[in-house]
Amino acid sequence: MLQAVTKAASMVLRYRFEERPPIDQVLKRRSLQGWSKLRRFYLSVWRPELVSQGHLLRVGECHRCGHCCRILFRCPFLKGNNECRIYGQRFEQCRNFPIEPRDIELLDGQCGFSFIPIDQIKSR
Ligand code: SF4
Ligand code: SF4
Repeated sequence: MLQAVTKAASMVLRYRFEERPPIDQVLKRRSLQGWSKLRRFYLSVWRPELVSQGHLLRVGECHRCGHCCRILFRCPFLKGNNECRIYGQRFEQCRNFPIEPRDIELLDGQCGFSFIPIDQIKSR
């Protein structure tokens, strides 16, 4: 019994003091995610020409993994199997994801799309 309690306590302590990322990193990531949502919303609604420009460098396809539907918070329309409940009528910023390379950097690259580096375009 004592052994189990000690093990549980050490697990909690390890989680609290070792395994969690520092609070400043968590806050920075969260605020970046929040700004990126606002940026995509703004671009999708008011600057569609910039969205089209961004998409010119985009390659790949959507694997419907749902990672972009969990940025900052889990979208209430996301079903357990990663399907969107309103897929046919989903928001413009959902259809447009990702618009720029930094959008997928936020997902640590976990997206079926990628972007051709600008230097490659210049050297063509
Ligand atoms: S993260 Fe990329 S691949 Fe996954 S659902 Fe979103 S757009 Fe599609
Ligand atoms: S509306 Fe659909 S596509 Fe858009 S974030 Fe939610 S689940 Fe994903």
